[in-house]
Amino acid sequence: MSQAPAFVFPGISRTASGLLRLGRKARALLRDGVRKWRVGIEAAPSVEGQSAGKPEAPVIERTIGQEVAEICFTDGRFPEQWPRHGECPACAGKDIVDAFAKAGFAHRRCRDCEFVFVDPFPPDDVAERLYAGEYYTNYREFHELPGLIRDGAATKFTAPDSALERVISRATGERKEGAWLDVGGGLGAFADLVKRRRSGWAVTLNELNPRSVEIAKAHFGVDNEPTSPAALFETGKRFDVISAISIVEHIPEPSQFVHAYARLLKPGGVLAICVPQFTALNRTVSRASSANVAPPFHVSFFDVHNFEIMLRRTQLFDRIEITQDGGPAFSLLHLVDSSTYWDITIPTRERPDPRSVMTKPYDLETAAVLNALGEAEQKIGDYFGDRDGRLYVTALAWIR
Ligand SMILES: [Zn+2]
Repeated sequence: MSQAPAFVFPGISRTASGLLRLGRKARALLRDGVRKWRVGIEAAPSVEGQSAGKPEAPVIERTIGQEVAEICFTDGRFPEQWPRHGECPACAGKDIVDAFAKAGFAHRRCRDCEFVFVDPFPPDDVAERLYAGEYYTNYREFHELPGLIRDGAATKFTAPDSALERVISRATGERKEGAWLDVGGGLGAFADLVKRRRSGWAVTLNELNPRSVEIAKAHFGVDNEPTSPAALFETGKRFDVISAISIVEHIPEPSQFVHAYARLLKPGGVLAICVPQFTALNRTVSRASSANVAPPFHVSFFDVHNFEIMLRRTQLFDRIEITQDGGPAFSLLHLVDSSTYWDITIPTRERPDPRSVMTKPYDLETAAVLNALGEAEQKIGDYFGDRDGRLYVTALAWIR
């Protein structure tokens, strides 16, 4: 089974082991003088017709790349009808430059705060189709839900445990009870963790997907507030803590998101936001090779600096704490642009785990370089985590 080095998507690990394995195979092939290196290809949709007409052709599975192309490029009026940012969504700066592209989607960078964002970004109806699409639906039904039933509380979270535990302990403080809203809480695993750590607290979800809400209720007994933040505001309900774990990277207007949810906090309440981090080396070197770059799903790319700038600009908060968690956000493997070589299968009942698949083989030189980088990476340990930054950044912001 092949694995991509990097793609932060539900169920896809970011390890370099796949590449290391490919590298060794590549070396063996070099030794054997094999000209055409095709290892690692389990399913290769839309590639050079390599499986066409051959009786031994692998099963062709649908991939995220195919679904995205249909929804965005075939049906989605891309790019003419897609909204564009007139200014930086984080700092409102006007000095915007092109950064890089991935899978046909342009990423731009603010030269004032270094925030990176997808521009143009998906209009609401396209975003709705993407999130109600086959990948997210099948991932939930065939991968996430069976895992939940099988392993119960041992659910894999979308952010590091250290970040989640810190959010719970810092946001609740000494308080024995309170009201907590988890925005985009999916199947309710994080809400359940909060309930287990702080049994006196009432935790509700603010999740849009009806099937996720149903599962969260059945499995964790977690209720949902199904409305938009504006509609929720009108109900008069207010919360002591509002969390958004691995949500805001999907939001094209993060500052508006913060304003909309901050209004739902009680005086002294806490907004807790955790996002994957896009560091200085990610911006300058990794670019499309970063796992975090997953258009059109991920549209906002923060680092510790512009995350704080975005929050401070709102002038809503008394105190802001920013922390980092996880391994290094930068990998030496990013020196090679591997972004065009990989796609991810859409889970099915028969094959419930999404898998990274090669869409075309590395040439031997590229494979050899990746192999060398992979070996070097194993020796440098946490070097870049310390100096450049970690995979996740978390902000806790106390409202005035
Ligand atoms: Zn900016």
